[in-house]
Amino acid sequence: MFYTMRRLVAASLVAALGLGRFAGAQAGGQPLVIVHATAIDPATGSTTPDRVVVVRGHAIATVAAAAGFEPPPGARVVDATGEYLIPGLWDMHVHSAFGDWFPGGRDVILPLFIANGVTGVRDMGGDLPVLLGWRRAIVAGTLVGPRMVVSGPMLDGYLADGKSLRFPSSVPVTSAATAVAAVRSLAAQHVDFIKVQSEVPHDAYLAAAAEAHRLGLPIVGHVPTRVRIAEVIDAGQKSVEHLMGLFEGCSTQEDRFVDGTGSMQLLLESYDPARCDALLRRLAEHEVWQCPTLAWQRGETLLDLLDQAHQPLARYVPAAWRTGSWRRFTDEIMVDIRKDPLARREEYWRRNLAMTGALHRAGVPILAGTDAAPGVFIVPGFSLHDELVELVSAGLTPMEALRAATANAGRFFGRPEIGRIAPGALADLVLLARDPTADIHNTTSIQAVIADGRLYDRAALDALLRRVEASARAIR
Ligand SMILES: [Zn+2]
Repeated sequence: MFYTMRRLVAASLVAALGLGRFAGAQAGGQPLVIVHATAIDPATGSTTPDRVVVVRGHAIATVAAAAGFEPPPGARVVDATGEYLIPGLWDMHVHSAFGDWFPGGRDVILPLFIANGVTGVRDMGGDLPVLLGWRRAIVAGTLVGPRMVVSGPMLDGYLADGKSLRFPSSVPVTSAATAVAAVRSLAAQHVDFIKVQSEVPHDAYLAAAAEAHRLGLPIVGHVPTRVRIAEVIDAGQKSVEHLMGLFEGCSTQEDRFVDGTGSMQLLLESYDPARCDALLRRLAEHEVWQCPTLAWQRGETLLDLLDQAHQPLARYVPAAWRTGSWRRFTDEIMVDIRKDPLARREEYWRRNLAMTGALHRAGVPILAGTDAAPGVFIVPGFSLHDELVELVSAGLTPMEALRAATANAGRFFGRPEIGRIAPGALADLVLLARDPTADIHNTTSIQAVIADGRLYDRAALDALLRRVEASARAIR
């Protein structure tokens, strides 16, 4: 049973990353040559001018000096003089098929990722048959979208009424036994990992983590409300989202938060630096990754400052998102916002940035993620660039922020061929007009995207965006 499960999991990850077709596909097809680019490889932190990168099939075949290089016969050559080449970006926290809450996943969310150079996503909760169907079509080249590593439905507990779940694409777990059954069922459906949400009861969480380990599946996600972050570390959770459990774990009053009687004010006032240092050291020792989703942390904490009627990216957003799920989230968040004055929330937001910087300095590995599309006006694809800006505000260098969205994804998945510019790496690349290591905002100066070896030049990307706009208008 154990062995079979492991094999299924391995097979599913191979399918997820499109690695299965490597050998066969390289033989045929036109090689793609990008010449005279400055290559930026966040894996090594290197910036090398005047490179040539040859893509064959789905992989990078050659990285060399451009001087004296002869393109192979029949190659398509892209002159990238004065431009900058980075690996394709990964958004490590998205929901692209979330019940009926965000209609337009296929025609809006997936192409927006590619149009913004996001060539890989970790889908943190969604409808499995839909996601697996998209993944097959993307690998086959019949659908435009990123590589997808998926959890399928999330484990969650019932709300206070004892019968309803907060989100779609969720499996209810109420006890250790139901948690074990849920993890087994998801493993049998070939999910890549297990995602936990906030309402999972304490003992159910521990049982789910143990069963996931037994089956060789990573467990990631929230620090459930009734669980301490120290327990999450001991349970071997691989990533923590939204900085959850951290401020509580740094507080002298952690019990109050686990009991549900804490507040933002208490969180800020009971911060204990020594306790926090010890916690960050443990997170680093156990390599518990952090995906802080800062752009949405800011959006959520200061939602009353967002002018929702005048958002420049609104044309890519279906009306159903704005009038449906986003309005519902806004109404819920505003209830919380009214409990805390703006100055206190601004202080909490500053602490989010400071915490991210402290985690980074302590050696806790960081992932770039956005929580698109559930985050209100966290527009898929575009928002990953906002996240990179926030990571730099938190104290990462631009190169380190790029690493969080590229090579760190590869390291997290145990796949060194992801997020690098090197022979044998996956052919996911983004060509920029301006240097992102000089100013992280320059990641938006996209001239071309190569996704799984397919080239989208600026004209193709603009055509994608126009199609998304039309799709967004058509979805009611
Ligand atoms: Zn999420």
